[in-house]
Amino acid sequence: MPFSDVPRRVDEIRGRIAAAVSRGGHGQLVRIVAVTKTHGPDAVVAAHAAGLEDVGENRVQEALEKREATRELQMRWHLIGHLQRNKIRFLDQFDLVHSMDRARVADAIDDWARDGDRRTDVLMQVNVSGETTKGGFDVDSLPAEADRLAGAAGLRVIGVMTMAPWGASEQELRDVFSAARGARDVLRAAGHPADELSMGMSGDYEVAVEEGATLVRLGTILFGART
Ligand SMILES: *Cc1c(COP(=O)(O)O)cnc(C)c1O
Repeated sequence: MPFSDVPRRVDEIRGRIAAAVSRGGHGQLVRIVAVTKTHGPDAVVAAHAAGLEDVGENRVQEALEKREATRELQMRWHLIGHLQRNKIRFLDQFDLVHSMDRARVADAIDDWARDGDRRTDVLMQVNVSGETTKGGFDVDSLPAEADRLAGAAGLRVIGVMTMAPWGASEQELRDVFSAARGARDVLRAAGHPADELSMGMSGDYEVAVEEGATLVRLGTILFGART
């Protein structure tokens, strides 16, 4: 799929998102995060040319290189993969961390942010399905963790991120995504300014939007298969 097609694909996806918002009845605004992992900076250029403003990467190093190469485009950069401790010092290069996936990571980001008098925008990654291969807080531990992090001066927890299991049925997708919406309510009840719901990828974004997604993370459907 040539990147010259990206604007046309984005138009079609925007139409599908609008239809999904009206079916779902949540009335939310939805932003497309263009997931450029494994592709070069030309994917970021193509996303920008298609009117997108948000880029997602799951490796810090790869993100920094592409960000540097496309600095003049002023995109918002999202970290969507697990954050290793030795990469925390690069977080000032990101606008939002979707993958705060365990208490130790939360504490490390909070320490780093407070040291630099910063406040870092993060999403709590929630593991709804209990798959052991996926990171994230489990739903049972969420209320206590949300309360604990309400005191973290270096973090602004602005929502929830989740990933649905591979090959899930539509009903399973709905259950996972609506549980993530419930997790956002838990964060709000603990006092966090949690408005964002990052969920939905190329294969399941329409269901995610019906269930209230505000950020959809799209790679394959925009840029073709990763090799
Ligand atoms: C790769 C990736 C995506 C994009 O997946 P596609 O199926 O290619 O749209 C979304 N979210 C995360 C966390 C990813 O690692």
